[in-house]
Amino acid sequence: MWLTGRLAPDHKTIADFRKDNGSAIKKVCARFVELCREMGLLAKASVAIDGSKFKAVNSRDNNFTQGKIQRRRKQIEESVARYMSQLDTADRQTAAGEEPSETVLLTKTRLKEKLAKLEEEVKRLAAIEKAVLASPDKQISLTDPDCRSMATSGRGSGMVAYNVQSAVDTTNHLIVAHEVTNIGTDRSQLATMAQAAKAALRSDSLDVVADRGYFKGEEILACEQAGVAVTLPKPQTSGAKSAGRFGKPDFVYLAKDDVYRCPAGEKLAHHFTADEDGQKMRIYLTKACRTCPLKDRCTTANERRIKRWEHEHVAEAAQARLDQNPQAMRVRRETVEHPFATLKMRMGATHFLMKTLPKVATEMALHVLAYNLTRVMNIFGIKPFLAAIRA
Ligand code: SF4
Repeated sequence: MWLTGRLAPDHKTIADFRKDNGSAIKKVCARFVELCREMGLLAKASVAIDGSKFKAVNSRDNNFTQGKIQRRRKQIEESVARYMSQLDTADRQTAAGEEPSETVLLTKTRLKEKLAKLEEEVKRLAAIEKAVLASPDKQISLTDPDCRSMATSGRGSGMVAYNVQSAVDTTNHLIVAHEVTNIGTDRSQLATMAQAAKAALRSDSLDVVADRGYFKGEEILACEQAGVAVTLPKPQTSGAKSAGRFGKPDFVYLAKDDVYRCPAGEKLAHHFTADEDGQKMRIYLTKACRTCPLKDRCTTANERRIKRWEHEHVAEAAQARLDQNPQAMRVRRETVEHPFATLKMRMGATHFLMKTLPKVATEMALHVLAYNLTRVMNIFGIKPFLAAIRA
């Protein structure tokens, strides 16, 4: 209350202020980060980037995908079959030539009403399916049209939400940059967030640590080209490894000779380059496979082929930084969990209050501003902080 001079505006005034001043609120949030930088709180150009799902004003029942529509249709078909069978049973209660009893009539009326409701639901689903097929990502949300159904870290769990990206300073845990997105995965967010953080810190270089969910060659390359050194682990997904054969990590790249050394000690040389989803992939192989005693543990084809992206050294450098500094992932976790846990605790076990992406972005900017403000007050103390603002 001290900040507003003991003014106590009612909820409508606050809601209107938030609605009418979205862009100004975002600017204040960014300006406060500048102030933190000027106060020397962001001296080390080092951030952890992470995303977290925040619930939207949209229940799961009001979000539709093609899969969900198919499941709902199957449920309706089962219900219709059950009600039809119950109608037959009710008919059998009355002997031929007899008038049906009042109970039977009531049961039949109730069942017919239920069938009529299901017919309505089938029509509603047909209209929703049309909208789902017309939407670019084959998904619609009825209450807040911008939010999306997203997987969360729990197995098989998900929520209708926004994915909030943040770049958090590793020293003082201040949120340097943030972005509200309705994209369910983090894979294409790294370069955008890193560049936003670098601009906010006005630094020529930046160290970024992130988790394996951000691993995407093009994103790491874009960071490298923008002067951002990324530390993140390479995902260990290998079809050969899960089938019990040697995986790519079992092959050592020898940069000097541009060859891979395989588990049998043979050298796989570059033979040709292929285009794969717009990426140039160099293919390495050796003729020694045909007579190799380890072949059963290596490949089911005539020879083992190893693919190498033309910029793979950039992705390898990200993993190498982690190998040299194994503490980086602990620092990452401690850095990003602090603001996200605080934001969620302050928001309570609830969803955003506003609907649609631009308004939700304003709401999040207010939360981020409040988090950064209280964080600086905790670090500095209120009086020195006010003095720094006036200076
Ligand atoms: S099969 Fe070929 S690549 Fe695999 S271990 Fe043997 S020689 Fe090396």
